[in-house]
Amino acid sequence: MWKCHYCGSEDGMPYKDRNLSGMLCLAPDCGRFNEIMNEIGTESAGAQAGIGPAE
Ligand SMILES: [Zn+2]
Repeated sequence: MWKCHYCGSEDGMPYKDRNLSGMLCLAPDCGRFNEIMNEIGTESAGAQAGIGPAE
């Protein structure tokens, strides 16, 4: 079962669009988006997360 990475709640809602997929936490005090990394290209994923090289 899914569990929120931030608060540990199991109350979540799946969310997915063309370049983002994960679970949206429904806990009132949290509400964060938990991105689920699939086997997509690591380059774009890193850039999205802001871990890329600083310009
Ligand atoms: Zn949460």
